[in-house]
Amino acid sequence: MRLSEGRPRLHTVTSSVLLDAGVVTRCRRRVHLENDPAMANARKAPPDPTGEQRRADARTHRRMVADRMAALVTTGWTEIALDAEPAERERATLAALAGGARFVWAPQLPLDLEGGRRGGIDLLVRAGAGYVPVLVVRHKVTDPGSGARTSPLRDPTPAGSHVDACRKVRPQPRDQLRLAHVMRMLRACGFADDGHALAGVVGMDADVVVWHDLAAPTWPGGRTALAEYDSRLADRLAVAVAAATGGQPLAMPSRIVECRDCPWWPVCEATLRASRDVSLVVRGEDAMQLRRAGITTVDQLAAVDEVPVALVGMAREDAVVLARAWLRDLTVVRRARRITVPRADVEVDVDMESFGDAGAYMWGCLLTGADVGEPPGYRSFVTWEPLPCDDEARSFAEFWTWLMEIVRRAAARGLTFRAYCYNELAENRWMLASAERFGGRQGIPTVSQVRKFVSSAAWVDVFGSVRDQFLCARGKGLKTIAPVAGFRWRDPEAGGENSMRWYRAAVGMNDAPADESQRQRLLEYNEDDVRATLALRNWMSSPAMDDLPYAGDL
Ligand code: SF4
Repeated sequence: MRLSEGRPRLHTVTSSVLLDAGVVTRCRRRVHLENDPAMANARKAPPDPTGEQRRADARTHRRMVADRMAALVTTGWTEIALDAEPAERERATLAALAGGARFVWAPQLPLDLEGGRRGGIDLLVRAGAGYVPVLVVRHKVTDPGSGARTSPLRDPTPAGSHVDACRKVRPQPRDQLRLAHVMRMLRACGFADDGHALAGVVGMDADVVVWHDLAAPTWPGGRTALAEYDSRLADRLAVAVAAATGGQPLAMPSRIVECRDCPWWPVCEATLRASRDVSLVVRGEDAMQLRRAGITTVDQLAAVDEVPVALVGMAREDAVVLARAWLRDLTVVRRARRITVPRADVEVDVDMESFGDAGAYMWGCLLTGADVGEPPGYRSFVTWEPLPCDDEARSFAEFWTWLMEIVRRAAARGLTFRAYCYNELAENRWMLASAERFGGRQGIPTVSQVRKFVSSAAWVDVFGSVRDQFLCARGKGLKTIAPVAGFRWRDPEAGGENSMRWYRAAVGMNDAPADESQRQRLLEYNEDDVRATLALRNWMSSPAMDDLPYAGDL
């Protein structure tokens, strides 16, 4: 085995910071905090149990893929014991690579002290004069189409790849950057193949290896994944070195979407509140824009007559009103003088529950309004077979058939009908996907029938009504807005992320026995969601609107 010559001299790192692949897609302030010795004992948010569950699922998926590939490739499969000491794992990895093993599962590469890198990869595959990395992930890496370069799992090598007539690549930039990180680590320890910039991913379907050319100009501006990675890592190294050595911080906190799930939020929130930072009201790039214009605090934003810069996340005048609402501790402010939400004689609130990309296991419906010969109240159409499963088609068909029967009966009685959801993206996605996946089966509508329904006036997205008519200082999620309308969920832990955990227990994933109590919990959660939508609509149609602060009065 020829070792690749030379090492990339992209960064001159004199400190001992070692960064994993995740830093290049992570908040820069987080990189600072994770490398600041003064923050070692800071109070952080407790670990999210759903995050831990996701990691456990990822481990199970990786094991399944490893077993499948090891059985298919038949020769040359080497596994590095995960439970061995790191030094022993590294020694075994280097021995396997130096010995020319065809496939090395769970390798432990040496720390790249010069480049400031650490981290691992699921699989190394011998290619040319070195190795290329393969990552195993639990998300989709292809879409129907053509043009992806793929290899079958029985020959998971670049040489065994071909242009796929059934799959096109989902770019998944994060995967590509993780692969670039390992590519650089391989080069640093002399096991890269300089002729190859291919790196592979096995996705949720675990059917093929999809190859990315990390040296192809597929990124914005004609950049390559490797160039993008190099530039981002250089930046994060500078941030980390400054933090580790007590230098001038190169990254300050500013609220972004990522803050919601970040363990450092208690630290950053305290800092932002102390300075009354403008990002508490207007997050992301808009906060940066405002700072550039000299508006750094919520108070300054609330005091301007007109925001002097264009914002991408909201209208300029909305930003000012939100700042004023924040100062008055208001959750919701009327944008319009008169609030309207379409109503009908017969109404159905709909909420769907899905499990990642695997499918939609429950369609919950709350029937209210005039009599159509069907008992009013809540009912659910559900499958408790673990997704993905064929029984999903049965529950979707029953939901659709029931809903269309209500539409028919309302029309037959000369009554108006409307169905409601909160944020139609999810419901529409799964109605259309179910019609497509289960097309032709008993009770399944065609895609065009679903399209016709979701684009009709009978299908109302209450989220759209909220977005258009209110300004919401703490977000527009149903769990935030419905309590303002006086609604309370029975379950104090009600939430989308938690429902994933309950679902696993409810169907008995990973060979665990199915937990009936979690099925009941999910049914109540779904019922409360549709009751929350109804409560919100009733509130929006009530005189209570007259008492809600109006933006123009703030
Ligand atoms: S809480 Fe937000 S600003 Fe702070 S480190 Fe996390 S993502 Fe960055």
